[in-house]
Amino acid sequence: MTAEISESSVRCPIHGVELIYIPKPIAEDIVVCPECGAGGSYEEVVENRRGLIIRFIPQRALKELLKQVGSANSLIASNTSAASTV
Ligand SMILES: [Zn+2]
Repeated sequence: MTAEISESSVRCPIHGVELIYIPKPIAEDIVVCPECGAGGSYEEVVENRRGLIIRFIPQRALKELLKQVGSANSLIASNTSAASTV
């Protein structure tokens, strides 16, 4: 198991799904909604319960990110047919 995904206890306000923890894709650990990319800094969102940003990660970048951290999110793969305007 190389995937480091673990679920935090914070849920997306839009989808109600638990945010996924991603260790340091940028300068800090983040949590994101696997559906829409809402999220923010792990410290802010999970520990301080604030600072959740809608569209924190753009949809396209989100898929790449989830692919990188692991393929556990098969629900993402089934969503790739969704039309997205650039
Ligand atoms: Zn969401």
